[in-house]
Amino acid sequence: MVNQGRWYTQLHWQIFIAMGLGIIAGLVGGKEFVPRVEWLGTLFIRLLKMVIVPLVIFSIVSGVASVGAGRNLGRLFSKTLGYYVLSSFLAILVGLVLVNIVQPGAGANIAGAASNAIPELQTPSSPADLLFRMVPLNIVAAAAAPNMLGIIFFCILFGIAIATLPAKPRIVLSDFFDAGFQAMMKLTGWVIRFAPIGVFGLITRVVGLTGFESFRALGLYMLTIAAGLSIHLFLTLPLLLMLLGRIKPKIHFRNMIEPLTMAFSTSSSGATLPVTLSTVEKKVGVSNKVSSFVLPMGATINMDGTALYECAGVLFIAQVLGVELSIMQQMVVVITALLASIGAAAVPSAGLVIIFLVLDSVNLRGPEVDAIVGTMLAIDRPLDMFRTSVNVFSDSCGAAIIARSEGEENVDAE
Ligand code: ASP
Repeated sequence: MVNQGRWYTQLHWQIFIAMGLGIIAGLVGGKEFVPRVEWLGTLFIRLLKMVIVPLVIFSIVSGVASVGAGRNLGRLFSKTLGYYVLSSFLAILVGLVLVNIVQPGAGANIAGAASNAIPELQTPSSPADLLFRMVPLNIVAAAAAPNMLGIIFFCILFGIAIATLPAKPRIVLSDFFDAGFQAMMKLTGWVIRFAPIGVFGLITRVVGLTGFESFRALGLYMLTIAAGLSIHLFLTLPLLLMLLGRIKPKIHFRNMIEPLTMAFSTSSSGATLPVTLSTVEKKVGVSNKVSSFVLPMGATINMDGTALYECAGVLFIAQVLGVELSIMQQMVVVITALLASIGAAAVPSAGLVIIFLVLDSVNLRGPEVDAIVGTMLAIDRPLDMFRTSVNVFSDSCGAAIIARSEGEENVDAE
């Protein structure tokens, strides 16, 4: 990244300042102040969401059409899936080990924290259900929902179809989707300029509404999850970058500051996707061919932070209830945590809601479990902000590593 002008003219600094101001405004102004500024955050999220569907459609179709059909696509596909599974699995292992060592649930004072109503989110109930959701009955309805998995599936097939056409229609269609993609990137750039103001509204809301009070009762649990996420973010993923991509993690972090801050303030990898796509192409230097394939799919199904959270959260609940989970049962938790992270929607708190799926796999259910999950929801926001940042960072690492393996030398160049 080239430094242009004074520091305060740079977007990431403006976002950091907005975060600081948001914390101050939330602490000083409290609940009463929130309604005055929260609309700024809401407006920003709406702008991001507005660009997601067309951006993803143009990006995937133009990207896949340029990869072509057959071998190339198969190779890219297997590398992408391989990376998703590897990184999520490593994240889960960190969670598993940490919760077993720290034992945050043994003695957690759950009754002291305020419990919240659990929001209704549409989540798949089984792997087969996940598969069905990938194939939309009606592509227009999928775009309207939006059902991202359905859109991605259709766009990949459509891109392949374009690639297999004779030259004349193929060039017409590829040029059209290429041009549409460029226009969407331009539009996304405008939305991103609005980020500092939006972030100010979002952070003020979080701090003003929750304050820091309710976090005390579940302190050790929060610290354990935060430690796990930090290990994955600052140790595991950088190691993968170095070993698999020969990339200096410091450079990748520096290039990714904007999507990271955006993921942190929006708690949604879906809403962050426009920023991730534009940054990974413009700053990290990954081709559209690779990023359009890895990132939209990654935002939807590759969630390392969420995977870690699912596993650690379930073990925590078992500890609170005094239930001993055998090694076999813990293995079941590991596998379902992976599936749950794939099925979790890229929106705030999705990870906590889908935890029921993992709890169910080891027969943890009932009113007590519901009450604990409700309590966890009360303090979920900061953890959600952190795991969303990890989710987004892992996608970008995947894009950079895969681009390198495809011979793209400019990725994260100094
Ligand atoms: N908020 C996360 C995301 O969008 C999902 C989760 O709740 O874990 O990536």
